[in-house]
Amino acid sequence: MAVEIAKIAGMAYAIIGTIMLVMMFRKGKFNRRIGYLFLAISTVLGFVIFAPMLPNQFQVLLLGTAKQLGVPVALAGAVLGVFVALSFAFGRIFCGYVCPVGAAQELLYLLPGRKVKVTNKTITTVFRIGFLIAFVILAVGFSTGLLRYLGLKDFFDLNTGAVFFWVFLTIVVISAFVYRPFCRLACPYGAVLSLAVIKGRFKLRRNENCINCKKCGEACHTVEVGWTDLKQECYMCNRCKEVCPVNGMEYTRRVIREQDRKKKAAKIPEPDLTERERTGAV
Ligand code: SF4
Ligand code: SF4
Repeated sequence: MAVEIAKIAGMAYAIIGTIMLVMMFRKGKFNRRIGYLFLAISTVLGFVIFAPMLPNQFQVLLLGTAKQLGVPVALAGAVLGVFVALSFAFGRIFCGYVCPVGAAQELLYLLPGRKVKVTNKTITTVFRIGFLIAFVILAVGFSTGLLRYLGLKDFFDLNTGAVFFWVFLTIVVISAFVYRPFCRLACPYGAVLSLAVIKGRFKLRRNENCINCKKCGEACHTVEVGWTDLKQECYMCNRCKEVCPVNGMEYTRRVIREQDRKKKAAKIPEPDLTERERTGAV
């Protein structure tokens, strides 16, 4: 009974927390302190009640061992579907702040020290899609849950006697140097959400204020700030928005193409300048 209550509480937190964050992003009220608060709560919930652990829920459903979930199968499946829809509509806010696995890695990455930026999106995409395919085949065809071998549950259960605990601990330690290695390479549910985001609606996008200063590009650790980037690996960390000197990043549905911005800028008449101002001659 206690397990059921914990799982339902985890699901309720996931839904209410994600909706609250969406509203804050939409109203421009989101800030770093709110983000830290959600990251801390989500990480603690992961250790205390192992929820809302949607990657694990996804695995359990595929394995057909739904009794382990502690809630009815249809409800667990519906929750997974709800977060696919929420990610399509509002971006990966669940991954950004509510999933305990993502939150733990994000917190570790905040530690000071040298960071290694993985910028080759082709490699990360091929790996994560390959992992997703292997994950589904092994779960459905061979009743084998790959997440178990990565130690996801052992880690959050603090089961230090299990060898797989140390596997996940290694991944978490790496996340202090490399941005969200589990999310970007291995998480099967995250891979599904990243596909949902391709044609997604609200995303952090550049707007007409952008002056192409490239500060956001330096701040983004997943290479998702370009005009044409799909934001599949955007975890709504807000770093790009925070560093922009001209308020050129916006959480919006509007898609502004670089050429449109250039055309608009070209139409703005130059102010009247004297010859001296124009040439810079002293
Ligand atoms: S990618 Fe997976 S592990 Fe990472 S935050 Fe999203 S659901 Fe959680
Ligand atoms: S820096 Fe911006 S584009 Fe990059 S992951 Fe964070 S929010 Fe997304």
